[in-house]
Amino acid sequence: MRTCTKCREAKDADHFYKTVYGSPSSWCKQCHNKSARANYAKKHARPAMVTVSPDAPRACTRCSEMKTCADFGRVRNSPDGLRRMCKACRVAVEQLRYARNAEARKQYGREWGARNRDALRAGKAARKTAVKQATPSWLTAIQRAQVAEFYDIALARTTQTGVAHEVDHIYPIKGTHSRGLHVPWNLQVLTAVANNTKRRRLPSGVTNKAEH
Ligand SMILES: [Zn+2]
Ligand SMILES: [Zn+2]
Repeated sequence: MRTCTKCREAKDADHFYKTVYGSPSSWCKQCHNKSARANYAKKHARPAMVTVSPDAPRACTRCSEMKTCADFGRVRNSPDGLRRMCKACRVAVEQLRYARNAEARKQYGREWGARNRDALRAGKAARKTAVKQATPSWLTAIQRAQVAEFYDIALARTTQTGVAHEVDHIYPIKGTHSRGLHVPWNLQVLTAVANNTKRRRLPSGVTNKAEH
């Protein structure tokens, strides 16, 4: 039995994750997951549009047309929570960029595929098993959808930029000292190059307090 320093309940050893050094973590799994979920929700919370109403007039910085706030997408880290470019302009800009990069993107994809064909094929089956094993049975439908969303984002960035993007496990699911989980709060989208550089390393700045 071990007492969780967060909820103060005494629990069996299997109720505690292991740290990167193999010692049991000081918080129980339940407390960890609760905290991770709260952090995830906080990070992904949309800004409250307290400063603007949907009908308030607003000019687009690209087409200069006078529109209403409802015609602008939301974005974090903006004073009023809205984009400066209207939705129509955002679509137009994306389409232009996509068309401009079409040939380069295709060429890059072909070359990248050819360069990585053997490695991809060899690693695919093993990878699939590892991902399956790292997916907790308690993951909710919403959390599973959030996981899928990371793969959609990686695909969208790859097609938009022509640079291969991949979904990375912040804590590797096949790490040397620990096993990260296939859960939304352990995922991030990286370029394939950055991901290959990172390999099975833990995120930078992680100390013996690392818990996941
Ligand atoms: Zn606890
Ligand atoms: Zn516009």
